[in-house]
Amino acid sequence: MHLPLPGDFIDIHTHGTRPSVGVYNIENLMAHEDRTPEDLHGHACSFGIHPWNLNDGNYQLLLKRVNEAAGFSNLVAIGEAGFDKLKGPSVELQCRAFEAQITVSEDYEKPVVIHCVRAWDELLPVHKRLKPVMPWLIHGFRGKKELAAQLISKGMYISFWFDFVIRPESTDLLKSIPTDRIFLETDGADIDIRDIYYKVAKDLDMSVNDLKLTILKNFKCFFKLTNQGMP
Ligand SMILES: [Zn+2]
Repeated sequence: MHLPLPGDFIDIHTHGTRPSVGVYNIENLMAHEDRTPEDLHGHACSFGIHPWNLNDGNYQLLLKRVNEAAGFSNLVAIGEAGFDKLKGPSVELQCRAFEAQITVSEDYEKPVVIHCVRAWDELLPVHKRLKPVMPWLIHGFRGKKELAAQLISKGMYISFWFDFVIRPESTDLLKSIPTDRIFLETDGADIDIRDIYYKVAKDLDMSVNDLKLTILKNFKCFFKLTNQGMP
C-alpha cells in the first residue's frame, strides 16, 4: 500500500484528482465504470457500488467486480457504498448491495467508505445487525451534531468537505466531534484540500501541522496500520 508521508495533506476521498506534491489522496473507483485498481499502478483507491448506479439488472455483475477488485493491495477500502433516498433503486436493493459489500469488507479486512443521504434509519440497523469489525467512514457528512455524535458512538469516522466546512454552523459541529474521528476530503470537486485543512484548523483552534498529525493518526487507526508499516 502506498502510504502518506509525514506532512502530507490527506484527501481521504476523491474522484479524478490530479496528483500533487504534499497531498496524499485515495481515488474512488466505481464498480460500474471500466477502471480497476490495477489501472492505478499502486496508487491507493477505494472500489464499490455507488447506490446511484445500481439496478436490478447490473447488481450481480457489479458485486462480482467488487469481489474481484478487493484482493488488490492498492485497494484500501470498499466503497463508496451505501444508501441514497433521493436517487437510486429501491431501498431493498440498496440494502442488499450494501450488506453484500460489508461482507466483502469483513472478508478482506478493508474498511468501508459510505455514501448516505437521508437513510440513517437504513444504515444504522445494518451496523447493529452485522456488527462489523472493520471501521466505517461516513463521507461528505453534512448532518447535525446529534447525528454525528450517534455515528461516532457506533465507532464510525466522519469526513467533511468544503461545502460543509464553510457553513457557519460547521464550526460548532466540528468542535463537538472528538478529533480522533475526523477526516477531510475534496470528493473530486475543484477545491484544494489544503484550503479545507486551513478552515478546519482555524475552527478547532489548532495549527495546520497539528491537524495534519491528527488526521495521519486517524488514518493509521482507520486502516488498522501498525507503526511498522508507516513512515
Ligand atoms: Zn464521492
